Amino acid sequence: MKAIQITETGGADVLKFRDLDTPTPGAGQALIEVKAAGINFIDIYFREGRYPSPLPFVPGQEGAGVVVALGDNVSSVRVGEHVAWCGVQGAYAQYAVVPESRLVRMPDSMTPQQAASVMLQGMTAHYLAHSTYALKSGDTALIHAGAGGVGLLLTQVAKMLGAYVITTVSTREKAHLSRAAGADHVVLYSETDFAAQARSLTDGLGVDVVYDSVGKTTFEQSLEALKARGMLVLFGGASGVVPPFDLARLSTMGSLYVTRPTLASYTASRAELEWRAADVLRWVEAGKLKLRTEHVYPLADAALAQRAIEGRKTTGKVLLIP
Ligand code: NDP
Repeated sequence: MKAIQITETGGADVLKFRDLDTPTPGAGQALIEVKAAGINFIDIYFREGRYPSPLPFVPGQEGAGVVVALGDNVSSVRVGEHVAWCGVQGAYAQYAVVPESRLVRMPDSMTPQQAASVMLQGMTAHYLAHSTYALKSGDTALIHAGAGGVGLLLTQVAKMLGAYVITTVSTREKAHLSRAAGADHVVLYSETDFAAQARSLTDGLGVDVVYDSVGKTTFEQSLEALKARGMLVLFGGASGVVPPFDLARLSTMGSLYVTRPTLASYTASRAELEWRAADVLRWVEAGKLKLRTEHVYPLADAALAQRAIEGRKTTGKVLLIP
């Protein structure tokens, strides 16, 4: 099969387009013909070695396709069914082996591109807004990178829950997209102090929650944007890793909370995975959650696609088609 393989960690050049043996599903696993693979920022952390993985490996944590073979003791999926998944390495390939416990059935009306666009980033938006800091009507939320993959979806989910949403973006074009996704106020953080803006929009109090996936360049100001007893949800580091932090500062800044969540811990049980996947897939089907999939690359161009994400050139979802 054709696949992208990483034999050493580093820049986008380490993503090699290769002919590899098609994997064989073991017990409890299914072999999927991948119709669409999602590209996510986490793929860059694995490529760089920021998140460790034994070498060599096929990257890619998200996909959708058709079941073509089953290992022993698989009971919940059948050959020919259309399925989607995330959180299992190996999606940048024509075929991927996935444990049945991580597969969800795609609704009939949905295309593989749609399913591969919403599994990882959509369920992330779901758990951040429903579980990490459970938004309720009238809450104020600051969402960084509001025109990104997670950003556009999280904005829509936060609006469904009745929050007042402030987003940050780096360009005017991205500001337009973020507003179209429902943001009440968009800050160009490349030009403006977003913490001061967030305070002035909340009568000087600060926001209830900051969802921060940018990390290194935003962390300090994100703390300043919070109201007393507010929560900083640090869920990524697109600009780099946040340096070590003195916990005593949380008390002097108003009894703040900081958490560093991952999708894996919020979909660890089958029940939680099914709840979140069913919600996001239903919202897409019903048109309540709008997807933006402007960036679709052939599998061989995985390096180009990752460079575009790193270079802040993409908005919404980025897909690979094997
Ligand atoms: P995005 O499409 O949102 O891309 C990242 C965005 O971050 C860019 O578009 C850019 O928006 C912004 N950014 C700010 N500074 C930088 C920088 N120095 N380099 C690159 N980008 C920068 O990616 P995803 O939607 O895939 O992921 C968004 C974030 O969410 C990532 O940090 C990812 O790790 C995290 N994440 C975490 C999960 C979890 O469970 N913890 C799950 C899924 C994603 P702009 O130009 O507007 O600043």
